Amino acid sequence: MRRILILGGGTAGTIMANKLAPALGAGEWEIVLVDSSERHYYQPGFLLIPFGIYRLQDCVRPRRRYLPSQVKLIVSPILHIDPEKKTVALGNGEALAYDVLIVATGADIHPEQTEGLLDEEWGRSKFDFYTPHPIGRGH
Ligand SMILES: Cc1cc2nc3c(=O)[nH]c(=O)nc-3n(C[C@H](O)[C@H](O)[C@H](O)COP(=O)(O)OP(=O)(O)OC[C@H]3O[C@@H](n4cnc5c(N)ncnc54)[C@H](O)[C@@H]3O)c2cc1C
Repeated sequence: MRRILILGGGTAGTIMANKLAPALGAGEWEIVLVDSSERHYYQPGFLLIPFGIYRLQDCVRPRRRYLPSQVKLIVSPILHIDPEKKTVALGNGEALAYDVLIVATGADIHPEQTEGLLDEEWGRSKFDFYTPHPIGRGH
């Protein structure tokens, strides 16, 4: 059986899993999706939290709920892609081989790259709206 490996289970990875699973059918292809979190965040909802329209829990669902049953979900950090060997090293110690790789790991925010932003007020009076928790202030 050949393997499609999807890195990242946000919007893009979830859509790919849902499109591919019924199109490929069972037997020939295994679809594996890796994400560091079991929680899927509806990011556009973050904008409404400061106004009290949504609460954080309104924007979070179990990731598994949005994946077809035949898609295998692995919850682990992704550490390294080796395109020569066609493997991906995970934080849980696994090295996953793939035939087809889909990278859907999204974007990170880096407040430390804006001078003065990441000071003692970060997470108190200064926030970003890209993440559910201020970077460096825990979850
Ligand atoms: C406040 C806000 C409002 C928005 N409003 C809209 C809107 O109105 N309309 C619209 O179309 N879009 C909107 N967006 C943008 C939209 O949410 C993003 O474009 C979309 O989520 C990007 O999808 P993605 O799959 O590329 O990345 P993400 O959804 O961010 O998914 C990436 C996934 O990869 C995982 N990941 C990353 N690195 C690793 C690693 N090393 N190991 C393991 N897992 C990893 C992450 O945990 C995450 O689950 C908004 C975004 C925000 C923040």
